[in-house]
Amino acid sequence: MHKKLFIPGPVEVRQEVLEKMATPMIGHRSKNASDLQHRISDKIRQVFYTQEEILLSTSSGSGLMEGAVRSCTLKRAAVFSVGAFGKRWFEMAQANNVPADLFEVDWGQATTPQLVEEVLSTGKYDLMTITHNETSTGLMNPVEEIADVAKKYPEVVYCLDAVSSMGGTKIQVDQLGVDICITSTQKALGLPPGLAICSMSAKAVERAGQVPNRGYYLDLLALYDYIQKKDYQYPSTPSLSHMFALDYQLDLILKEGLDNRFRRHQEMADYVRDWGRRHFGLFADERYLSNTVTTFNNSRGIDVAALNQELGRRGFQISNGYGKLKDQTFRIAHMADCTLEEVKELIAHIDDILKL
Ligand SMILES: *Cc1c(COP(=O)(O)O)cnc(C)c1O
Repeated sequence: MHKKLFIPGPVEVRQEVLEKMATPMIGHRSKNASDLQHRISDKIRQVFYTQEEILLSTSSGSGLMEGAVRSCTLKRAAVFSVGAFGKRWFEMAQANNVPADLFEVDWGQATTPQLVEEVLSTGKYDLMTITHNETSTGLMNPVEEIADVAKKYPEVVYCLDAVSSMGGTKIQVDQLGVDICITSTQKALGLPPGLAICSMSAKAVERAGQVPNRGYYLDLLALYDYIQKKDYQYPSTPSLSHMFALDYQLDLILKEGLDNRFRRHQEMADYVRDWGRRHFGLFADERYLSNTVTTFNNSRGIDVAALNQELGRRGFQISNGYGKLKDQTFRIAHMADCTLEEVKELIAHIDDILKL
């Protein structure tokens, strides 16, 4: 039996979107491929609230995260971390010989504008990374306030990990002054895993031009230059299957209306949080809760694996805690195309299983 996924990626994908993955192939150097990639970029710009260039990469979000920190750091990167995925960006910098410092706060806490100010004011950094939505802790950073600080440091290329939030909550990339905003297909956008998407500002393009060793496959400037010269085609063969599905899913997203989509996510988050507060307590700082995934304290000491096993028999799946938070916490994702009704159905099953 198929289990309906309430895990923070991959998410449930609509049947009609899955079927688009089976579209017959076209040549990746054809006019049709150019048109497809053009259409996707135009629609993604609306979802990202940006006028900047859009790059697609046949990798997962981690690919573009690695590409961004390597391609655009000339001096030193400031990596702000609030959990597992912030830390990953630091490890990527290290693995690529990119000078970087890690500024980590306790899990469950946010990156504050004060911390960003303190770090950037040293003048040591020319790139910074922020996690918009930390999937391990269920926390959404205060990016509006961080933007006010970031704007005072125009020499810093601002990279934002919006992998688990883009498409589920409003992120106005240009207004926030984000230079490279990264997401993956398998989270709030509601597609199968395998494609990563980012925006790239003129400032990021200019910076990459000064960086000598940007790698090859994940060289953001190479991708950027190629699509300029070759009418939106990519240097190597991209996952056209994902592109067919993405083109179609973006139509559905825009047809729902971005504001409606964000409101639906907010309603699901509100419902799940209320339930969580009553029965378990929430892991993340109440001021910065994520709209796409909620992390609960396992205050009742439930057997998370056993709960998931019984949920599985009933056709559902939730997530255990991430990494070191396994069993101490558990998570429910409420992102992409699931509805409040489906979330209520899931919660009713959990209530029944745990006799809450
Ligand atoms: C899932 C996730 C990633 C990694 O994305 P992949 O597409 O799996 O490479 C990075 N950051 C956050 C916040 C995530 O949730």
